[in-house]
Amino acid sequence: MADRMLQFVRLDQRNPEKRDAALRRADFGEIYGEFEPAAAAAQASRCSQCGVPFCQVHCPLNNNIPDWLKLTAEGRLEEAYEVSSATNTFPEICGRICPQDRLCEGNCVIEKGFGAVTIGSVEKYITDTAWERGWVKAPKPRRELGRSVGIIGAGPGGLAAAERLRVRGYDVHVYDRHDRVGGLMIYGIPNFKLEKEVVTRRWKQFEEGGIRFHLDTAVGRDLGFAELRARHDAVLIATGVYKAREMAAPGIGLAGIVPALAFLTASNRAGLGERVPELESGELSAAGRHVVVVGGGDTAMDCVRTAVRQGAASVTCLYRRDRANMPGSMREVYHAEEEGVRFEWLGAPEAFLGSQGAEGGRVRAVLAQRMHLGLPDATGRQQVAPIPDSRFELRADLVIMALGFDPEDLPAAFGEAALTVTRWGTLKVDHRTMMTALPGVFAAGDIVRGASLVVWAIRDGRDAAEQMHLWIQAQAAGQADARPMAVAAE
Ligand code: FAD
Ligand code: SF4
Ligand code: SF4
Repeated sequence: MADRMLQFVRLDQRNPEKRDAALRRADFGEIYGEFEPAAAAAQASRCSQCGVPFCQVHCPLNNNIPDWLKLTAEGRLEEAYEVSSATNTFPEICGRICPQDRLCEGNCVIEKGFGAVTIGSVEKYITDTAWERGWVKAPKPRRELGRSVGIIGAGPGGLAAAERLRVRGYDVHVYDRHDRVGGLMIYGIPNFKLEKEVVTRRWKQFEEGGIRFHLDTAVGRDLGFAELRARHDAVLIATGVYKAREMAAPGIGLAGIVPALAFLTASNRAGLGERVPELESGELSAAGRHVVVVGGGDTAMDCVRTAVRQGAASVTCLYRRDRANMPGSMREVYHAEEEGVRFEWLGAPEAFLGSQGAEGGRVRAVLAQRMHLGLPDATGRQQVAPIPDSRFELRADLVIMALGFDPEDLPAAFGEAALTVTRWGTLKVDHRTMMTALPGVFAAGDIVRGASLVVWAIRDGRDAAEQMHLWIQAQAAGQADARPMAVAAE
């Protein structure tokens, strides 16, 4: 069958059909269609089956990519699904939203010269087909262990751990302050990147497998952390990071300047069929407005593209570095440009001007200044500095601030001072055991890494589940004290 592979010399790289930008602007549907079976097999057959597959090395889950590509090329899709789902809890989600250009595909050996194998699209195709054909099964154990775990946070980190632990036979309880399961996959990431049905069908299946969700339950507010610990043999904290970074500038308190996540959550809630008063009142709506989004990461890209779909009069992204130095995925910038977003590179806000001067009324413009890139700092990143006398104004009656996220003060929120944090406020864990300073309390995902990616949260959740299992088993065998703790070092 090897002759089916190595087709990259003959076949061009192709992703599934991308909807025309004019159509995309008018709705919140995903922008890519699905591969036809023959096209998926053909694209998978472009893989050269490398002895050392760099795609796999650079996938945070170390997915066995060459094997599932080969199986897809051979039309053995059920086996491809088995291989792909062995290392990934949500392959159809990663296939849609991983920044493949920085991970697997960006490191594919045929990327230069021929164009990478379309790994993400094939991964999505395999699992979407598995769902259609009923191959995706609820996580059910062979036998119950009679022990329970509590997981705080129903985002990808918490869910990945929940699935692993349930399959092992634990009684799994997931607590979340929101009314739906999925974390940022539901309330942060917009529908045009990840349709919500893709997440909710997993939720329903997890329930079918016996995982118990306690929604609208904020730990530290509705349920004490100590009480939660007392209920379970071990606890996982997977609460993500939500505190929006702020900037100090004249006029920052004007009406019409809103945080990115509030804007995106309102839009996602409306997409889920809810009435959202802040959208109806216009407070969080871009419709008819001149919108400026400040920031250059993936959250900023999601905001500009959401604003376009809400019918903004104009959408500008203001970012202080240039295109080559922005943190967001290039692919997202390209999509945004196609959809009509204007980019003001090398520009930073200096002040926000209101309808009644800098201190009053609604924002009417952003006063920005030009920046230039200087020498790299200690981290290797080029520093930015303002260019004198380079001010310019951008018309804006909605400004969305997308400057990134920090963790909230979790020890305070949970009333647990022994829960130690790093200087960035992320939870300190022993990176071998993923245990915090508290015995039996583990942590995973953004709350440990800082704002990161879904695929890393999945990896952490799976690893934490394994460590929790080992710890509970060791406790049962009376060996708990044999495990060293090393959380003191950052
Ligand atoms: P989260 O997904 O944040 O889930 C944490 C959960 O914990 C939430 O449901 C929250 O309600 C709950 N919680 C918090 N505190 C409590 C408490 N006290 N009690 C009970 N529950 C609590 N990543 C990608 O890979 N690709 C993308 O395209 C992408 N786009 C993004 C777009 C936006 C706008 C944002 C903000 C992020 C994006 N990310 C993307 C990053 C990705 O969403 C996160 O890295 C990932 O969701 C982190 O997973 P997590 O499980 O650690 O936390
Ligand atoms: Fe690539 Fe992400 Fe899939 Fe890994 S999980 S193969 S990085 S798309
Ligand atoms: Fe195939 Fe590219 Fe991975 Fe090599 S690096 S195994 S060509 S997908």
